[in-house]
Amino acid sequence: QDVLLDVRDLHVEFRTRDGVAKAVNGVSYSVAAGRTLAVLGESGSGKSVTAQAVMGILDSPPGFVTGGQVLFRGKDLLTAGEEERRKIRGARLAMIFQDALSALNPVMTVGAQLAEMYEVHRGATRKDARAQAVRLMDRVRIPAAKERVNDYPHQFSGGMRQRIMIAMALALEPDLIIADEPTTALDVTVQAQVMDLLAELQREFTMGLILITHDLGVVADVADDIAVMYAGRIVETAPVHELYRAPAHPYTRGLLDSIPRLDRKGAELYAIKGLPPSLTAIPAGCPFHPRCPRAQDVCRTDRPPLFAVAPGRTSACHFWKDTLDDAR
Ligand code: SF4
Ligand code: MG
Repeated sequence: QDVLLDVRDLHVEFRTRDGVAKAVNGVSYSVAAGRTLAVLGESGSGKSVTAQAVMGILDSPPGFVTGGQVLFRGKDLLTAGEEERRKIRGARLAMIFQDALSALNPVMTVGAQLAEMYEVHRGATRKDARAQAVRLMDRVRIPAAKERVNDYPHQFSGGMRQRIMIAMALALEPDLIIADEPTTALDVTVQAQVMDLLAELQREFTMGLILITHDLGVVADVADDIAVMYAGRIVETAPVHELYRAPAHPYTRGLLDSIPRLDRKGAELYAIKGLPPSLTAIPAGCPFHPRCPRAQDVCRTDRPPLFAVAPGRTSACHFWKDTLDDAR
């Protein structure tokens, strides 16, 4: 396997008025070319912060990487020289954000923004860059690309704007795309279309894709592997279909049980009780224990490491076996 990104034991802290927020506490994951890793978690789980540390955009509010490595094809982006980091993050890695309207420049036509990528990074002439911009817009299936290339971001629908962001990300043919809640702001039918497009392009270009989401419903069809995060830690990793079939962590179990299902129409939807902890006061022992239906005394005192559950599967639960058995 051609491993592109290998995040090892990453730690990130934020200085806040309430003290030090431990946003990422020893996260490790890797993505290979042609694979899609879904990183799943509620807001505040550290899934976005991890990605921001990878991209070097951890700055509002001031966040610090306090440990770990971010290896891109074996090169640690945290310690590499400025020049090299900029090169990799500028061209080999690309990021897609939830809110295209604030990620795109509102006073530039989308064509000019796309063309600029080719002019700046590839030294293309204005005319060639323009032609490339139209081709890209076609590629992400924006109807009448030739005319719409002269429109401004606000003139597009949310779904079309998200396609333009995908086009921007694709422009330099990166090795890896990190998409942070790329469809969350869209309505359900458009969500599926944009997700399908992203998955299709990922396959076609044999890119790695990290799909960050809070929505377990959107990952089933597109992801190969999944990492579930909670309170700045990975609590479970698995090939996505195995996780659906039999989760090995009570938190994942709760997330699965909260997905509306057609075959249980009318049945009351499960909701995990309580809220995720404040990152300035993460509970001792298992951080999930205050919300866990399975919690025992040991959970309140001993922090569970990531246990190897099966090849390619880990769970940070003292009772992963029972959890797994329950699902079978
Ligand atoms: Fe629940 Fe204990 Fe497992 Fe944590 S370690 S998820 S509290 S059973
Ligand atoms: Mg986020």
